[in-house]
Amino acid sequence: MTGLSVGWSLAERGFDVVVYDRAASGRGASWASAGMLAPNLEAEPGEEKLVKLLTMSLKMWKGFAETLERRSGIKVGYREEGTLAVALNRDDVERLRFQHRFQKELGLDVELIDAEAVLELEPFISRKVQAALYSRSDHQVDSRRAVEAVKKLFVESGGVLKEGCGVERIVVENSRVVGVVSCEGFKRFEHVVLAAGSWSRQVEGLPEEARPPVRPVKGQMIAVRETGSQPLLKHVVWGPTRPWGPSYIVPKPEGRILLGTTVEEMGFDTSVTAGGLMGILRSCWEIVPAIAELPVEEVWAGLRPGSPDDAPIIGPSTVEGLVIATGHYRNGILLAPLTAKAVADYVETGKLDELLKPFTPHRFRAGGG
Ligand SMILES: Cc1cc2nc3c(=O)[nH]c(=O)nc-3n(C[C@H](O)[C@H](O)[C@H](O)COP(=O)(O)OP(=O)(O)OC[C@H]3O[C@@H](n4cnc5c(N)ncnc54)[C@H](O)[C@@H]3O)c2cc1C
Repeated sequence: MTGLSVGWSLAERGFDVVVYDRAASGRGASWASAGMLAPNLEAEPGEEKLVKLLTMSLKMWKGFAETLERRSGIKVGYREEGTLAVALNRDDVERLRFQHRFQKELGLDVELIDAEAVLELEPFISRKVQAALYSRSDHQVDSRRAVEAVKKLFVESGGVLKEGCGVERIVVENSRVVGVVSCEGFKRFEHVVLAAGSWSRQVEGLPEEARPPVRPVKGQMIAVRETGSQPLLKHVVWGPTRPWGPSYIVPKPEGRILLGTTVEEMGFDTSVTAGGLMGILRSCWEIVPAIAELPVEEVWAGLRPGSPDDAPIIGPSTVEGLVIATGHYRNGILLAPLTAKAVADYVETGKLDELLKPFTPHRFRAGGG
């Protein structure tokens, strides 16, 4: 999603852009994502600057989704019902209270509601529910449809898409980017945007200090299919974090429901495991017992591009002409409109949005910031 969105933004501004993807583009983490656009409920202490960035991108999503749908003809499943994080026991309630105090201090749109109010919003949630955090401002999108729409518009805007064509090496001369070596050989470019997700560190040719410190963080997912005529859920629903992982249930268009997820440090392994599925099902069944009845449609695993501080890495590097756009970790779909605009602005004007200053690659260099 990141490379295509940046490419689309640049192509719209009249740049000659080539997006290389060694596989089918948009089929990395972006295909695996749950598509939640939820900076309010997920905000935790220590993430104050990141929350500002995420909420700014959330504000851009409505217009972004409208443009994607109007111009591509693809319905991207952007939904504004809101998000709930439920508590099922006393411990969970205390944790939500703590989170809520912090979120209110930041002025985020989150309220603490009682069990009755939760069941009024979502009658299929377990009767064990004690309370929930509720954000009307946390939305969601179907990330697979969104990425298809961006891909279509990138090409229609004059962008060149080379799928099945990896970048083997970024070519640097005298600390300046001069082009890339891909499956087609060398091609000269004035600017190169490195947006290869979890694989961004592996692209050859860069000096060590310019390689972004990303690593893959595996997440497994399950899709089930609703069988009744009434939707089981309208809101995105988070469950409490259990020893086997966090859990959420995300209703999608046409009766598809996503259940997630695991957070695993397993390198580039994308196997779906019995233990992973068991943890997800156990947690999600605890929140909405009726999911046990639903047929399983698909299971998969994807690799979130994680960074040392779980925040994105966006902006110029030590190599002139090279811009980094990776490390989006759990928020790459949410951050897509903001990343696209900020990187395109930087390429066009040489100026980086103030909001992004804490998130440049320089923060990982000795004495950086
Ligand atoms: C299970 C799961 C759930 C998630 N849920 C959410 C969510 O609810 N909300 C949210 O905002 N985010 C979510 N995320 C995170 C989000 O999906 C990622 O942050 C985002 O998709 C990263 O996008 P990307 O384009 O940077 O990386 P990717 O989508 O992984 O794309 C990287 C691309 O680079 C290509 N590539 C790699 N090496 C090369 C090379 N040498 N040459 C050319 N191409 C190359 C790959 O083929 C791939 O297509 C989730 C992620 C996972 C795994």
